[in-house]
Amino acid sequence: MHVLILGGTTEARALAGLLHDDVRVTSSLAGRVAAPRLPAGEVRIGGFGGADGLAAWLREHSVDAVIDATHPFAERISFNAAGAAATAHVPLLALRRPGWVPVAGDAWHEVDSLEAAAAALDGLDSRSDRVFLTTGRMGLAAFADRPEWFLVRSVDAPEAPMPARTEVLLDRGPFGLDGEREILARHRIDVLVTKDSGGAATAPKLQAAREAGLPVVVVRRPPVPQGVPTAATPEEAAAWVRKA
Ligand code: NAP
Repeated sequence: MHVLILGGTTEARALAGLLHDDVRVTSSLAGRVAAPRLPAGEVRIGGFGGADGLAAWLREHSVDAVIDATHPFAERISFNAAGAAATAHVPLLALRRPGWVPVAGDAWHEVDSLEAAAAALDGLDSRSDRVFLTTGRMGLAAFADRPEWFLVRSVDAPEAPMPARTEVLLDRGPFGLDGEREILARHRIDVLVTKDSGGAATAPKLQAAREAGLPVVVVRRPPVPQGVPTAATPEEAAAWVRKA
């Protein structure tokens, strides 16, 4: 059996680790990160050339099952996977970690896009001159015209366009609560901006913001292709593969 995992997430790596002793696993990465953490098993890097290219790849490599374990905000590859799996008649499962939900004490401002997140900074009740921006290095253009000071955390260095007043913090999760508290205090952060990525690895910033009484601008997830069965954890996805 040959399983293709569309990856780029902690969960995708965990799934490859769970499966690779028993089945042939190929993990696919987009190639965005210069030195990615590599999963167990075979790895291929780079785009397929759209849904048609992916369908051709599935046929050429005799893939028996596909797991879309990409990031919840990687919208295009998820739709490509749905199209390609249907064309090539290969079973597809989406491994999607549940989104975060606000709890008592949270002051969330939910928006639908990075552009809306940038605009939301104008509407906050409290002072918001110092922004901790954790939406990744792609998409900084949406904030390029903002007057605030930004602490941008990303794995690789971001490129222009970006806000004029930006400090970059190069780091890769998981991030612990103490470290997140320290960042908010040391940089005198007024507001946190995040995508609803979900998962435990980057959740402590939400607790740290809650404790500090800071507003959080949360970008809601984009739509997902309809009709694709979903697992919430790598273990559930591994069980689906073993039954496929
Ligand atoms: P995207 O907008 O959905 O995809 C753009 C194109 O990149 C796709 O059409 C595909 O090219 C290629 N691609 C994406 N994921 C791929 C994969 N796993 N293997 C091979 N090709 C892939 O994706 P994105 O938001 O740029 O994310 C790229 C990667 O980074 C994903 O693997 C994702 O899991 C990871 N990631 C994304 C985010 C985020 O916030 N978006 C955060 C953390 C990690 P072709 O059409 O040529 O096949």
